[in-house]
Amino acid sequence: MVRTRFAPSPTGQIHVGNVRTALFAYLYAKKHGGQFVLRIEDTDLERSEEIYTQKLMEDLHWLGLSWDEGPDVGGPYGPYTQSERLSIYQEYAQKLIDEGRAYYCYCTPEEIEASKQKLLAEGKPPHYDGRCRYLTASQRRAFEAEGRKPVIRFVAYDQEYILQDVVKGEVHFPRGMVGDFVIIRSNGLPVYNYAVVIDDYLMKITHVLRGDDHLSNTVRQLMIYQALGATPPVFGHMALVLGPDKQKLSKRHGVTSVDEFRRLGYLPEALLNYLALLGWSSPDGRELLSKDELVELFDLDRLSSSPAVFDYDKLHWISKHYIIQMPLEKLYREAIPFFVETGWVTEEELQDPAKQNFFMGVLDLIRGYCSRLSDIKNHLVYFLREDFPIEAEAEPFLKLETTPKVLQAFYEKLQAETRDVDELVFREMAMEMMKELGVKGKNFFLPLRIAITGRVSGPEIYFILPLIGKQKALARVENLLQ
Ligand code: GLU
Repeated sequence: MVRTRFAPSPTGQIHVGNVRTALFAYLYAKKHGGQFVLRIEDTDLERSEEIYTQKLMEDLHWLGLSWDEGPDVGGPYGPYTQSERLSIYQEYAQKLIDEGRAYYCYCTPEEIEASKQKLLAEGKPPHYDGRCRYLTASQRRAFEAEGRKPVIRFVAYDQEYILQDVVKGEVHFPRGMVGDFVIIRSNGLPVYNYAVVIDDYLMKITHVLRGDDHLSNTVRQLMIYQALGATPPVFGHMALVLGPDKQKLSKRHGVTSVDEFRRLGYLPEALLNYLALLGWSSPDGRELLSKDELVELFDLDRLSSSPAVFDYDKLHWISKHYIIQMPLEKLYREAIPFFVETGWVTEEELQDPAKQNFFMGVLDLIRGYCSRLSDIKNHLVYFLREDFPIEAEAEPFLKLETTPKVLQAFYEKLQAETRDVDELVFREMAMEMMKELGVKGKNFFLPLRIAITGRVSGPEIYFILPLIGKQKALARVENLLQ
């Protein structure tokens, strides 16, 4: 049975690079009919906050990543929050001590530093020198009487380790890389390298996918598995996600946390789809893939060992696709907060059955111009307000010699029109005017578009006009003529 996990530390908003590894772990488990576990690694008490645990669970749910076992849903290997597992870490540390694989160490930071300097001066690796390993019971009592609080140190194996990493290939850890290392701090809290092994072992995790910033930790973890007499899981260390300038993706490049993407109105299906392509590709080269398709196609052998570059343009392309494809009613529900955010319309109006046709019509028209729902604002403005800006690109078209003629003719024709001005009537009017005026193409349409929307591009003007209505259209044209 495949069991994978995502083990975030709740120390901040969750970064897309982390979610990407969570997604791969999820896809792999689902593909193989296995389980995906969420474990909260909160033993860094100073930096961990409960609010971030809540946030990250919300973000994962929003993305459509659900877990089979976790802090909120429980499961057979709980608890799933490390701070609730302290007695388990103590119990295994005691076992390691009993077996001679770990020991209490009373050295102060100053003593350790001094011994490191000495080793460095002798040209030796500055590992802990192991002086507490063979303390007698009375020496220990003496240190304790001094008030020293011990850490528990693991006895490092002096051997080479070879890891068959599913992403990196064969990784060699030469002997002597690490000295005896701390597994339980003097305050009783476990360190990451130890707790992660105890948990992955007891939670029967079969595959660990994570960032390659953890690769150098793995040798310590392999040692602990060895001491436990346990087979390590399969490891896959993914290269970190980079920004377009090939530096580690960070705020400098743009938004990076799931929360920010959500607030900007990226659809979760689109973000999930895009994240799957960061370091993985489908066998047939398809890029637009639903979660179910990803589950079906995903495999570890298509994970890339080179770093993925976060391409915001590509995300926009994918995101736009999802916005265009989504059934209108569903998209409308998703879009309501973004309409409200503009401050030009209230939630009540958007829910009002008498007004919904109008707003849905607007959304349907403008969705093709949105890469994310917050882009709605750019086009919504001319449907709802008369003080919309005229963009700079419009200037040359307003200066054309024919422009006043076109606007005047349109004004007169529209005013004289007795029929309901729907799309077809507008088309007919436009055809006639182009013939009468001898002006066509951009020179005819852009002055009209600019008068009605303030912009040189956007949805078909024929569809916009009926939604704006005759009176407002007349007023806008008149306004520009003055
Ligand atoms: N809590 C660790 C982190 O967030 C987990 C690393 C791992 O997956 O082993 O980096």
